[in-house]
Amino acid sequence: MRRDLKELEKKFADFIGVKYAIGVNSGTDALSLSMRAAGIVPGDEVITVSHTFMASISVICHQGAVPVLVDVGEDYTMNPALIEEAITPKTKAIEPVHLNGRMCDMDKIMRIANEHRLLVIEDAAQALGAKFRSGKGKWKKAGSFGLAGCFSLYPFKALGAFGDAGVVTTNSAELAKKLRLLRYNGEDRKTGKFYFHGYSALLDNVQAALLNVKFRYFNKWIEQRRTLAEYYWTGLKDVKDIVLPNFRDPRYFDIYQNYVIRAKKRNQLFNHFKKNGVETMIKDSIPNHRQKAMGLSHFRLPFTEKLAGEVISLPLYPEMSQKEAEYVIKILRNFYNKNNKS
Ligand SMILES: *Cc1c(COP(=O)(O)O)cnc(C)c1O
Repeated sequence: MRRDLKELEKKFADFIGVKYAIGVNSGTDALSLSMRAAGIVPGDEVITVSHTFMASISVICHQGAVPVLVDVGEDYTMNPALIEEAITPKTKAIEPVHLNGRMCDMDKIMRIANEHRLLVIEDAAQALGAKFRSGKGKWKKAGSFGLAGCFSLYPFKALGAFGDAGVVTTNSAELAKKLRLLRYNGEDRKTGKFYFHGYSALLDNVQAALLNVKFRYFNKWIEQRRTLAEYYWTGLKDVKDIVLPNFRDPRYFDIYQNYVIRAKKRNQLFNHFKKNGVETMIKDSIPNHRQKAMGLSHFRLPFTEKLAGEVISLPLYPEMSQKEAEYVIKILRNFYNKNNKS
C-alpha cells in the first residue's frame, strides 16, 4: 500500500543525496516533527532567523523551546557571524532557513554547530534543489547537511502538490524511524505496537502520485527559473534604486523560489506594478519578531527591520516567457525614470 508515497520518498532521497526521506502533511509538520524527533524539549534554545515564514519560529515554540533570533545578511539568509554570540548553555540546535531558493553559508554554520555540538535542522522549505559547495568541493543539496532537512510541497512552492504536503530528509536511520512513528500516531504499522503519542501527519498517497509526475520536470523548471533570473539581472542591473539578488558567489546554486529585490519607494512601486497588470508580492512588511502577539519583540535585528520596508518579489515561475519578464523590466524602469525626474 501507499506505493506512490514510497516511490516519492525514494526519488526525493536520491534527489537530495541522503539515505531517507519521510513524507508528511506539510512543511510545518516536517519541521515540527523533526524538532520533536531530534529531542528538542522545553527550555532548550534553538537559533534561527526572524526574516522567514513564521512557521520556522513557531515550530520551536511548539516544543516548549525558546527561539533565539539572529539577523540576516545581504543575501537574506542567516548571518553566520552572529551565531556564536547567540549561543548559551541552553542552546540545543541551529535552524538555518534557506530563503528564496538560496542556501545559507553551510560551511560556517556546520563548523560552528560541530564546534559547539549543536544539532542542525535545515528549513529547506523554499530550497528544493538549491546547492552549496565549499570552495571547489562537491556540490551538496539543501537538506543534506544537517540532522534533518525539511521541505514544503505546498502549491506555491517550487514543487507543489494540489494541497499541503512536506518531506523530511535525513541520513540518520534512528531519526527516520522516529519520524515514521510520529507521523502515524506513534504506531508501528507492521506490529501494531505504539511507542509514544504521535500525530496524524502522513503525506497523502494521492498527492504523492501527482508529485511523482511533476518531479520528472523539476530539473527543467529549476533551469527555467535560473534563466528568468538572468533576464532580470541583465535588464535591471544598472537601476540604481534597487538591489537585485545578484550573489555571484561560485559556492552557491540558487533555484529562485522567489525573486526578491530591495527597492526605494517600495510601496509606490508595488502600486505602479499593480496599475500595469503585474502581480508582485510584499511579504513581512512587519517583521515576524515585531508581531506583538508572538512574544519576540525583545529581539533587535536592524537589517531584518530595514528589509521589511524594502523587499518586494517580482513574478518568476517556470512558464513565464522572456517577453513577460521584459514587460516587468520595462514597467520597473518606467517607474524610476518618472520618479527621478519629478
Ligand atoms: C512554506 C514554508 C514553511 C512551511 O511550509 P508549509 O508547507 O506551508 O507548512 C516553513 N518555512 C518556510 C521558510 C516556508 O517558506
